[in-house]
Amino acid sequence: MSGKERLLVRGAQGDLLRLVATGHAESRAQLARVSGLAASSVSLRVEELIDTGLLVEEGSGTSSGGRRPRKLRVSPTAGLLAVADLGAHHARLGLLDLSGVPLVVEERACDIALGPEATLDWMASAFDDLLLAHGPAGVPLRGVGTGIPGPVDPGSGRVVSPSRMPGWNNFPVAEYLGAHYDLPVLVENDANLLAVGEARSWPGFGNLMVLKAGSGIGCGVIVDGRLHRGRGAAGDISHVRVRTDSSTMCSCGHPDCLEAYASGAALMDALSGLGIATRRPSDVVALVENGVPEATALVRNAGRLIGEVLTVLVNFLNPDAIVVGGSLSTAEPLISAIRAAVYERCLPLATRDLEIAVTRGGPDAALLGAGSLLLDAVLS
Ligand SMILES: [Zn+2]
Repeated sequence: MSGKERLLVRGAQGDLLRLVATGHAESRAQLARVSGLAASSVSLRVEELIDTGLLVEEGSGTSSGGRRPRKLRVSPTAGLLAVADLGAHHARLGLLDLSGVPLVVEERACDIALGPEATLDWMASAFDDLLLAHGPAGVPLRGVGTGIPGPVDPGSGRVVSPSRMPGWNNFPVAEYLGAHYDLPVLVENDANLLAVGEARSWPGFGNLMVLKAGSGIGCGVIVDGRLHRGRGAAGDISHVRVRTDSSTMCSCGHPDCLEAYASGAALMDALSGLGIATRRPSDVVALVENGVPEATALVRNAGRLIGEVLTVLVNFLNPDAIVVGGSLSTAEPLISAIRAAVYERCLPLATRDLEIAVTRGGPDAALLGAGSLLLDAVLS
């Protein structure tokens, strides 16, 4: 199995490595232009990075058309990142190289209700399995990251007042994983990871609201191409109060939060009350697709309530797109109800070029987002 090793690069070296890893530069000239460093200084540091085996140069030599420019790439042996996206009942886990390219991604059943220690120990042993089976010999693990389906304090990496995660409140996830791995650790809200990963699929869209509609309901906000964390809870729309005929108490102790009506967990509870059993949010989508009217009505109502919350946010932030992901996102009535509410109620200037669409980034978007943020942590 591969070992683990902290990546030791100095500030400007780390910046150059990051620019190559993220595809922002692939030559010394581009590095100088993008970083603003002097060409001589860039050349010196690139040579050091090549000497230490972190960068490689490809395409050197001549071709029939003359000398081809040499391309810088992060070495495939520079290191691995182990990343996970924890859900209520399943997790996606993967190994990425330092350029964020997945070597392997797996989905496994898990149960976060078992509590933080059991879940994080399970995750560590799943990472061990992946490293054993897919980690190239001699390539060290450089960092570990995970998405959490609840609010995360970015300073401490603690989970703060999550819903449906018994035992997790105030648990120091980053500290726990850090003690196990002794490597840079990223702990981030799952909707934020999805937003960062999804943003890669929306070039030219600098401002995004990325909704994650699964067991819970969350939103990640991208402003000017970067994740907006605020104090840590930016984008958390789960406990916004909504307008309804009935009154339902939310797990947070307040009545009529969005989550109490529009999350996958709430929809499953409501269906259960009607005698319709479901095991996970995707079962709700299947019921909608099979034309079960109770499910369709509940999902449409969820979309309307989400849309009403988003109208305020769209008027306020004026995003370029609202992107809807998570396991409920494939339910067509959810998206149409969100669209109807937002287009009807928002200012014309705010909706003129606004796109409302399902995710483009594919099932691994959150893992790719984790890789991108974890690389920042590894290089800082
Ligand atoms: Zn609440």
